[in-house]
Amino acid sequence: MSGEKIDIVIENGIIAEITDAGKGIGQPLANVTGAYVSSGWIDMHVHAFPEFDPYGDEIDEIGVKQGVTTIVDAGSCGADRIADLIADSKRAKTRVYAFLNISRIGLLTIDELSRLEWLDKERVKQSITAYEDFIVGLKARISRSVVGGNGLEPLRIARELSGDTGLPLMVHIGSGPPDIREVIPLLQRKDIITHYLNGKKNNLFDEKGYPLQVLTDAIARGVHLDVGHGTASFSFKVAEAAKRQGVGLNTISTDIYRGNRLNGPVYSMANVLTKFLSLGYTLEETIDAVTLHAADWLGKPELGRIQVGDGANLTLFTLDDERVELVDSEGERRVANRLIKAKGVVTGGEYIACEVRP
Ligand code: ZN
Ligand code: ZN
Repeated sequence: MSGEKIDIVIENGIIAEITDAGKGIGQPLANVTGAYVSSGWIDMHVHAFPEFDPYGDEIDEIGVKQGVTTIVDAGSCGADRIADLIADSKRAKTRVYAFLNISRIGLLTIDELSRLEWLDKERVKQSITAYEDFIVGLKARISRSVVGGNGLEPLRIARELSGDTGLPLMVHIGSGPPDIREVIPLLQRKDIITHYLNGKKNNLFDEKGYPLQVLTDAIARGVHLDVGHGTASFSFKVAEAAKRQGVGLNTISTDIYRGNRLNGPVYSMANVLTKFLSLGYTLEETIDAVTLHAADWLGKPELGRIQVGDGANLTLFTLDDERVELVDSEGERRVANRLIKAKGVVTGGEYIACEVRP
């Protein structure tokens, strides 16, 4: 993201040339002149397994049709169904990676860590060996309704599995118990806290808006912060406190699935990005959080850059001066005057127009 005016010449799906605007030779790919272009957006937290309800959706609905060329499924599936998610992903136009749920049942039910017999370590290790190109980490949802009476035990098992497999953890945080001050110290460098801007009682900031010591310490250890907006996990008040205190911004993700896509408060990646602009982040900081930073975390720098010789992986979007009312997960509203709209993507050698409300 630099704001220069350029033409990008694509031949057979590969970026052949990047020139000053108007200098590129060839047929315009789509009628989107005047749009911004970035490397393809990456959503680090989605639910892409349509069979599961409520936390499921169709891959391309939350991927390319949203301007997102790469999604990372955040533990919808455990060992029982991960092969089916991979099979689905091969039929989609969106690139897919996944965090493997440490519970073999994944999100078949939404209390997947409430029975320890569902945490089958051998099955986890077999899945990782079988699908090492697809699985980028382990997912553990550590909040009251998920772990039931098991407290921190599922997280301790996740930590052990992480040590055995060399894969980082993505940990969902929410209502306690367990207390957030006991959860965060178990996270290490490269692990991800998703929902770090949630406004629930057990959140990461005190009443005055200062980050808890456990959060400050985690950031110093290299723990990664991910938004994971979701139905219930993004608070403007907390996000404003984080901005004031200089906490984040690492990656912006949606935690999108059918329900919060169609009925809000997520709607789309572009809508979530618009919220970060309204918080006062620059366009560059906002877009970097779904391109560069995500690609770096994934260890796939080519996904976060636009470079001659690379496969074309691009998102085209506009920034419109429009008044729009935004709503967070707590029902709080903010008015913004600039709106990001996804227009289309280039991936797999083709241009695909976006089909979502902004
Ligand atoms: Zn979650
Ligand atoms: Zn989620």
